[in-house]
Amino acid sequence: MLYALNVLISLIALATVIVIWRAPETEAWLWRAREGTPIMASFKLTLARSLRWFDDYYVVGDMGEGAFVIGEPLYGQCNFSYLITGSQRALLFDTGPGVRDISPVVRALTLLPVEVLPSHLHFDHTGNLHHFDAVALPDLPALHAQAHDGVFSLGLYQSLGFMEGFERRPFRVHHWLKGGSEIDLGERRLQLVNVPGHTPESVVLVDRSANRVYAGDFIYPSDIYAFLPGANLSDYAASARRVEAMVDDQTQILGAHGCDRPPLVDVPTLSRSDVRALAATLELAANSAGPLGSGWFPRVIPVNERMTLLATYPWMAR
Ligand SMILES: [Zn+2]
Repeated sequence: MLYALNVLISLIALATVIVIWRAPETEAWLWRAREGTPIMASFKLTLARSLRWFDDYYVVGDMGEGAFVIGEPLYGQCNFSYLITGSQRALLFDTGPGVRDISPVVRALTLLPVEVLPSHLHFDHTGNLHHFDAVALPDLPALHAQAHDGVFSLGLYQSLGFMEGFERRPFRVHHWLKGGSEIDLGERRLQLVNVPGHTPESVVLVDRSANRVYAGDFIYPSDIYAFLPGANLSDYAASARRVEAMVDDQTQILGAHGCDRPPLVDVPTLSRSDVRALAATLELAANSAGPLGSGWFPRVIPVNERMTLLATYPWMAR
């Protein structure tokens, strides 16, 4: 009896230590558990003029400059992926969560050979990678270590798919892309820029001739996540300053999540002033002695009228 009590007390103590040690993960689990799995939009949607329904799930739009947007407004996180075409090749930046196969949409938009690059490895951007033969990833040592015989396995906390009940599917990597390198699509070049912060492997694509940045989750309207496992406020602030220095006031910055003004569904488009506001808020959050904003976890910090920063405590993610 005494032995059983001892074991019980030890187990409770161990569980408490694990919960405190892994506070961000624990809270991420609880936070999503409250939100549902997966969340789907329950209201009637109005599409912006630039968008049209592709089927009863996807919307598509011609963005000009060789780019098409593929949106998933019925999915609760309202993902937007981008298909950028040149004269020889096309690049699909993000694939959505995999609620539905995105490859027929891509095939309907281009006959060119398509390479796929996720902006980062969260489940809502990598859900369809296994449908494609040509997947590229940023050339980072930590990611190389996860590929065995060319097959990449997503980590539990890297994908976070468990939060909405999505499976982690292995996929084949056929190309590693160095930060700063140019992706030549034929008469259209995209520069790959590493922007660690939201996650360590986050990247954006810069199309200089179109004066456009495809931003993934680096920036988009509404809640910016800087509290999930792998997030780092100092890195994020430095990345934001780097992107701010690369763009001008006319640069179109296209994010990966929209539907911030329901019921309107529009392409999530931001500008340099939004990047500047985000950088300033991230710097404040990273460098303040105490927590900013409100709430227990994540901390909710206003950025500007279009964005809110959801952050960890500075001591957790410097
Ligand atoms: Zn995302």
